[in-house]
Amino acid sequence: MFYVSPAFTAAEQSALARAATRWNEIATEKFCTQVTNQIQERHWIYRIPYKGPAWQEISTRLKGADVLGVYYESGDRIGIIDGMNGGLFELVALHEFGHAHGLDHTAKHAIMYVGSGTVTDFTPIDLAECRRVLACVADESQQEEDSNGGH
Ligand SMILES: [Zn+2]
Repeated sequence: MFYVSPAFTAAEQSALARAATRWNEIATEKFCTQVTNQIQERHWIYRIPYKGPAWQEISTRLKGADVLGVYYESGDRIGIIDGMNGGLFELVALHEFGHAHGLDHTAKHAIMYVGSGTVTDFTPIDLAECRRVLACVADESQQEEDSNGGH
């Protein structure tokens, strides 16, 4: 379960729910989103005004990066900036949910690549990273390939 700040627009809240559903299709641990007025200490998704004080603080800490989202392992909290178009917002949500599942950044373009928006769906690189951290089970065709020597 992730609690969602009501500061997100209705469209953003829908995108967060869609991102959760997309992860639930591939990950073993399932989660859903729930909007609440009560600020949560844990599992909280909050909206960060772009270029505002909170955004600047995060950006400075990340050496001036143009931050679109942030994940805090302590508390399993996610911040997503406002003002993005719907498609990009959902990709950023997918990326941050990936961190919540324990995935690290990938070296090549993927949902878990450092820059969001390079791909629009999970890639084999994402799925491999998901299996590496045991958030996804190895699919049978992959296992068969491995046992045959693979490549
Ligand atoms: Zn990231």
